[in-house]
Amino acid sequence: MRDDKATGRLEDLAARLTTSRLLTDHDVTDAYRRDHAHLVAPGRPCGVLLAERTEDVATALAWAGEHGVPVVPRGAGTGLAGGATATDGCLIVSTAQMTAIRELEPDDMYAVVEAGVINADLKRAAAAHGLMYSPDPSSFEISTIGGNLATNAGGLGCVKYGVTRDSVLGLEAVLADGRTIHTGRRTVKGVAGLDLTGLFVGSEGSLGIITSATVTLRPRPRADPVTIVGSFPSLRAAAEAVAAIVRQGIEPSLLELIDRNTLQAIDDWKHIGLEPQTEAMLIAQLDSPDAARVARDVESAYTAADADFAATSSDASEAAQLLEMRRLAYPAAERLGHCLVEDIGVPRSRLPEMIEAIERIGTEHSVTILTVAHAGDGNLHPTFVFEAEPDGNAPAAVWCAADETFQTALDFGGTLTGEHGVGALKRPWLEHELGCDILQLQQAIKTALDPRGIMNPGKAY
Ligand SMILES: Cc1cc2nc3c(=O)[nH]c(=O)nc-3n(C[C@H](O)[C@H](O)[C@H](O)COP(=O)(O)OP(=O)(O)OC[C@H]3O[C@@H](n4cnc5c(N)ncnc54)[C@H](O)[C@@H]3O)c2cc1C
Repeated sequence: MRDDKATGRLEDLAARLTTSRLLTDHDVTDAYRRDHAHLVAPGRPCGVLLAERTEDVATALAWAGEHGVPVVPRGAGTGLAGGATATDGCLIVSTAQMTAIRELEPDDMYAVVEAGVINADLKRAAAAHGLMYSPDPSSFEISTIGGNLATNAGGLGCVKYGVTRDSVLGLEAVLADGRTIHTGRRTVKGVAGLDLTGLFVGSEGSLGIITSATVTLRPRPRADPVTIVGSFPSLRAAAEAVAAIVRQGIEPSLLELIDRNTLQAIDDWKHIGLEPQTEAMLIAQLDSPDAARVARDVESAYTAADADFAATSSDASEAAQLLEMRRLAYPAAERLGHCLVEDIGVPRSRLPEMIEAIERIGTEHSVTILTVAHAGDGNLHPTFVFEAEPDGNAPAAVWCAADETFQTALDFGGTLTGEHGVGALKRPWLEHELGCDILQLQQAIKTALDPRGIMNPGKAY
């Protein structure tokens, strides 16, 4: 039940908006309480603003500041770390309705896009000009540019083209006090002042709300990529092939690893004809002009690492099918039970050891783990599959296995999150990675931008 004062405050906000809609009916707002991190218990928002204009975001944040109402920014809600999960009494500000591509400049190879533009829509708009927007999380058909920026999303092509941060020149963002700022530039170079664009990218909604971004576009490769697929008798063998490819200085545009458990889950669902001896699969792509020649080196690296099958194809539809199969990894895991999707990263030479450690941890804790990896980045997604406890939580063995996985990644000089973000889910582990001094420094930066602490409290750091 909402008291009269709270209702009055929401009516006051609704009256100040221009075109954006404010939802307050719990039956409707409940759909916005969670993201894809199902283990994070959501609170109940006081309202959901479906923002259509930057002015309305500014109005909402000024209002939230006046009344001390916490604000949870939200894009498409595909996040895997609970960053967009509602906290009790918060105002959710969704930028998903802000879908305009304000400018697309083929000659200067940049676009100015609103935060709610779906990644795939920007890719399609760029492709019409022979250009590409390279950041490509597997969720590219459903996630927003605002969410991608706020999480500094990675994906399949990062191994060559970098993460989201590497494709952004500037931002329009609304600060916690309602001020709208413009950071960055439209030029290729520019070093005036501190890099506030970089600061906002990956800040998980904790510093303000991104309403639009100036992003870099690149020329599309002239030919279809060459794809090299290999199957391996062990995960370790596949990881050795990855390490060899990296060591040789080969620059694939994509290098993905899929383990037996994941392949089995996909096969049970889509009948891909999985061979009994296949314990792991590698998919590499090359899009450089000398791709056909370099593909032979990749195939040799597969063979030298004991691949029982290796083949190269330049057929675009075969490549699309393989990538589609890779993108089925997460939904295939979800068909088996509840999932805790992890996101560790290690220096690439440590990939074989990390993969062995994950297998050992799964066995020791009797936890089913399905692993896929953006192997060329050393970024692994071990997914722990389990039956939830009656209270919806994961069994203790899953948390112990996750704990050990994080600690092992850190021991190898790695990170607990390569691309999904800290959100609410990984906060308990963050200090282990950053240390007390860095954590305090980050909190001080937040306080400078958000002195009342209303932006996405309880998330990130
Ligand atoms: C099937 C599947 C595959 C995925 N594959 C990948 C992958 O390959 N790589 C990868 O990196 N991630 C992946 N993800 C995770 C997720 O898609 C990304 O984190 C994505 O960037 C989130 O975008 P979103 O629009 O859904 O944001 P949300 O989930 O709505 O929000 C994510 C975070 O960003 C903040 N936020 C959202 N919009 C704004 C804004 N306008 N201003 C400020 N803060 C904001 C939220 O508060 C939250 O902290 C995957 C998820 C799924 C379900």
